[in-house]
Amino acid sequence: MTAKQESASALAQRCHVCEFSPLDPVADYARFSRVTSDSKPWPKGGRLFICPSCAGVQKTVDAEWESEVEQIYGSYSIYHQSEGAEQSVFDEISGGVSSRSGHLLEQLRSQINLPETGRLLDVGCGNGAFLRAFSSVMRGWSLCGTELNAKYKKVVEDIPGVVALYVGGPTDVPGCFSIITLIHVLEHIPEPGQLLSQLWDKLDLGGHLVVEVPSFKRNPFDLLIADHITHFSKETFLRTVRGAGYDVITATEDWVPKELTIVARKGDRSASPGDSVTSSEVHPLLMRLDWLRAVVTMANRHSKSSRFGLFGTSIAATWLFDELAGRVEFFVDEDPNRAGRTYMDRPVYLPNDVPAGSRVLVALPPDFAEPVKARLEKHSLIFKLILPPVFAE
Ligand SMILES: [Zn+2]
Repeated sequence: MTAKQESASALAQRCHVCEFSPLDPVADYARFSRVTSDSKPWPKGGRLFICPSCAGVQKTVDAEWESEVEQIYGSYSIYHQSEGAEQSVFDEISGGVSSRSGHLLEQLRSQINLPETGRLLDVGCGNGAFLRAFSSVMRGWSLCGTELNAKYKKVVEDIPGVVALYVGGPTDVPGCFSIITLIHVLEHIPEPGQLLSQLWDKLDLGGHLVVEVPSFKRNPFDLLIADHITHFSKETFLRTVRGAGYDVITATEDWVPKELTIVARKGDRSASPGDSVTSSEVHPLLMRLDWLRAVVTMANRHSKSSRFGLFGTSIAATWLFDELAGRVEFFVDEDPNRAGRTYMDRPVYLPNDVPAGSRVLVALPPDFAEPVKARLEKHSLIFKLILPPVFAE
């Protein structure tokens, strides 16, 4: 065994949240089709684990996972359904559209008083969506980003206020920052606590750490994403952030739909991360996997009728398309950046353009599917909208 293999196998055995070992495998997970975080179908055969001590839901960092992730990131394309334009967030009441980053920034500004000037580091900044949103509002700030490769270096460095995009880990970035953001990053990191701990050293005293991750309890489709290594719940997310020495100011599921957001400050590094949870926490995971199976059963039944479509062009719709072996005639998306194109070789319609008499399954978690239905049904639809099952809690 090489040193690298040794460290990988040690990691494989250890919980990413609390370091407990060994982890319990989750039965039958391998039967699910999977999807990548940039919304491409990924074959069945994955493995999922739950920690008996903290109930952390996770993959293990073994050679198989590392090789899959290498393939996924090798051809990664952000928001390819809309040629790079960021995903939109729809206001549940008005149906108005804003970018996910703009939405997060608005919420952040309502929570903390941002000074006119400061330094911000966006870890894993992708093509600079959040830096762009921040730069357009906070013009006096100096901005930096990090990424694993230089693919978007020029795009990011062209954003006003951006000093540099650093390729590599945050320890390679000089200086300290008043705000450090990690938006959809922590769920990809094999040792999330260690990364947060490194960032503790880069955060000014009185500065703010802002972390956003998907919530598998609110959005079970997250469990199907092959390159997400930790599937956080609010409890395990809090434990991870606190365990790295931060005081949490806000932990919310309401800022961005389906996501968990934490705002924290530097705290006492020697403090205990908190108690372990009871085994009753296993139930939410199993219940959500059952729900995913029920969605497939329902979609299968409706796909036998003619003119069957899926509402959405992201993770959930891509996954269902694959589970149904492509028995889907079209997709429906309210996002003007996505409608009018094709996706998975099928047309993408705006709701108004859906063929009469079709059936359209809303591929979203129940909490998010209902407002979509309420919103769309205001415009007397000529097709039938089908909601997914509710959670059996
Ligand atoms: Zn654990």
